[in-house]
Amino acid sequence: MLNDDDLNRYARQVIINDFEEEGQEKLLNSKCLIVGAGGLGCPVALYASAAGFGNIEIWDDDIIELTNLNRQIAHDNNKIGLEKAYSLAEACKRLNPNISVKPKIKKLDSFSNISNFDLIFDCSDNPKTKYMLNFLSHNNQKILISGSATQMEGQLSIWKSGINKFYPCYECVFPKTSSVAPVTNCRESGIIGSITGFIGSMQVTEGIREIAFKKNSSILENSMAGYLFLYDGINQSLDKIKLTKNNECPLCK
Ligand SMILES: [Zn+2]
Repeated sequence: MLNDDDLNRYARQVIINDFEEEGQEKLLNSKCLIVGAGGLGCPVALYASAAGFGNIEIWDDDIIELTNLNRQIAHDNNKIGLEKAYSLAEACKRLNPNISVKPKIKKLDSFSNISNFDLIFDCSDNPKTKYMLNFLSHNNQKILISGSATQMEGQLSIWKSGINKFYPCYECVFPKTSSVAPVTNCRESGIIGSITGFIGSMQVTEGIREIAFKKNSSILENSMAGYLFLYDGINQSLDKIKLTKNNECPLCK
C-alpha cells in the first residue's frame, strides 16, 4: 500500500491505465543498478528517482571536472573534484527522499555481483564496460538497458538474452572483433548535453515499461528487447531496428 505522501508524489503517474498503484508499488519494490554517473547516468538517476524506483545503486569511480558540466546535470560548480557517484546520489535524495539511493565508488569487472538487481542501466561510455555488463547481465538473467551517445547522435538498446534465448545479446550485434562497436568517448568525439539527456530519458521509459506496466498491457505487447534505437540529432530522426541473434555468438548461442 502506498502511503499518503507517495500517493501525492506519484499522483500524476498512478492515474495512467495499466500503471496504477500496482505499477507504483512494483517500481518502489524494484532494485536497479546504474553503472556510470556521467552524461547518461545523471538523467537516468534523476528520472528514475523522480518516478520512484525504490532502490537505486549508482556505481562510478570518477571525479567531477569542469568539462563534465555541459551534460552531467546533477553535478554543479561546487562539486568539482568530488566523486560523481556521491554527488549524483545526493541530487537524487534531494529530489526524492522517500527512496533508497546508494552510491558506490566502484569500477565494474567480471566478478562484480549484480545478482541482487532487477534491472541494469548501462550508462557507461566505453565498449569494455558494455561487453562486461552484457556478460554479467546474460549470466545473471537480468534486463540490460544500454545507452550511448556521441556528438549529435545517440543509441538505446534493450537486452534480455539471459531471460529468453530467442533474444540477441549486445555481443551478437557488436562482435568484439568488429570495428562497428560504437565509439562513445566524449573526451575525444565531443557530445551535446541534450543528446545524453534524451537517451537517458528513453532508458528510464524502458525501465518503467519493463518493471511497472501490467504484463497484459498493450504497452508491453511488443517487448523492446532485441531492438536498437538510433537517434540522429542533426536530422531529428529516430530509427527503430530489429536485431537478429547471432547463432555463433560466443556468449549467448
Ligand atoms: Zn549473443
